[in-house]
Amino acid sequence: MTTSSAALPLVIVGAGAAGLMAAIHAAGGPRPTLLLEGGERPGRKILISGGGRCNVLPAQASAADFVSDASSHTIRKIMAAWPLTRARRFFEEDLRVPLALEAETGKLFPASGRARDVLDALLTAVSERGAHIRANARVTALVYEDDGWLVRLACDQVIRAGLVILATGGLAAPAVGSDGGGLRIAEQLGHAIIPTYPALVPLIGGNPAHRAFAGLSLEATVRVEEAWGETQVAGRPRSAVSSCGGFLFTHRGYSGPAVLNVSHVVARTLLRRGLQGQAGVATAPEVAARSSLPSSPQAAVGPRLTVQWTALDAATWNARLCAEGGSTRALLRQFLPERLALQLLTETGLLDADLAQLRRDARGRLIEALTRYHLPVAGHEGYRAAEVTGGGVSLAEVNPATLESRRATGLFFCGEMLDAFGPIGGYNFLWAWATGKVAGETARRG
Ligand SMILES: Cc1cc2nc3c(=O)[nH]c(=O)nc-3n(C[C@H](O)[C@H](O)[C@H](O)COP(=O)(O)OP(=O)(O)OC[C@H]3O[C@@H](n4cnc5c(N)ncnc54)[C@H](O)[C@@H]3O)c2cc1C
Repeated sequence: MTTSSAALPLVIVGAGAAGLMAAIHAAGGPRPTLLLEGGERPGRKILISGGGRCNVLPAQASAADFVSDASSHTIRKIMAAWPLTRARRFFEEDLRVPLALEAETGKLFPASGRARDVLDALLTAVSERGAHIRANARVTALVYEDDGWLVRLACDQVIRAGLVILATGGLAAPAVGSDGGGLRIAEQLGHAIIPTYPALVPLIGGNPAHRAFAGLSLEATVRVEEAWGETQVAGRPRSAVSSCGGFLFTHRGYSGPAVLNVSHVVARTLLRRGLQGQAGVATAPEVAARSSLPSSPQAAVGPRLTVQWTALDAATWNARLCAEGGSTRALLRQFLPERLALQLLTETGLLDADLAQLRRDARGRLIEALTRYHLPVAGHEGYRAAEVTGGGVSLAEVNPATLESRRATGLFFCGEMLDAFGPIGGYNFLWAWATGKVAGETARRG
């Protein structure tokens, strides 16, 4: 790099979780650090995260928790740069944000319960370390020229930069700034983009009878019953996925952590089959034309999902149903919300059955409904309602030790725009903080 370009600023594009963490670790080096934020204010997604409480980190994490087309070795290498214990210490000691563990979920929140405190602490650190944030500065293009970068803004101003970190997020929750513009810039610079899809997204139901349960929640296990080998978890094709936790019936379908954590399988399958429709909902003609499954009353697309409604597995239910007397309805009501118990009994034709009269085939039907209930899914609620983006900048073209582009000199990536995401529970902020730190630290030395 020439003497003049060595003095040019380091520009970070996007002041979300990853960009702010990158700025904190990049500032104070030989170059001035400028953080360009396209929206009116930095960190808007942090403020709405975790229901306004911001689930900063998980209590435990490993590479296997992340979904990516990259190898598990790559994910492990990136995550190893900032082990969870050190990330936690950084928040508690450097940023002075004490964290509290929510024991039943394994999530770490600020002890104050206020996302605002997390954002304020990050902004204070950015400014104390000497980085400058400029809001309403949306970047539209990057051009490499004369040993440095020309950063073009929407207002047509061009800023010269020595190094650039792209931290523009993905496409999830566009209302707080992520519109995929950064991914388009990366693509224009020759980077392969793993096709994107909404993840951690509520699903749209395919059974109209379920609408009556809107608002009903319970603990359940949701399983993807069929192979979806194309999608990878930390580089390994997965044949089955399951998630245990809160299950919520919504007005249009299903949500809650147990559903959100498997929703990417549905989204990715729809993407592969070209069944997207509006907001990821497969339209009725699409379903009719492309799905072998009936469109009414149980219109379903994507992989087969099933639910186990209680903690009891099939063998345990079998033993209970054989051993106990009285009405089937009374037994089920001990384990399930009454409305759901009645629905399962109606669907299996056992509404008024006594346990003593249950024949083997009827018992089998009921056990199936209790432990492998088919959840017909007609689509997903799209990026508008998604918490993260699946796919993104391929990790194969990024050096995992530095997060520098293998295609363009002096360009780094971090956060959600990279091809990896984790489940509900603080994993996605962990990814944003860890990748932001690596990109920032490396650029500081560059
Ligand atoms: C409702 C909701 C709740 C969530 N809760 C949690 C939680 O509790 N815990 C957790 O771990 N994860 C949570 N997540 C996920 C988490 O918020 C994201 O994974 C994380 O914010 C990603 O950080 P990022 O910096 O990569 O992207 P973003 O936070 O999306 O930040 C990108 C920034 O770049 C700006 N930008 C975009 N394009 C440009 C451009 N061209 N020029 C300039 N600026 C640009 C955007 O305005 C934005 O400020 C939640 C997500 C949502 C939607």
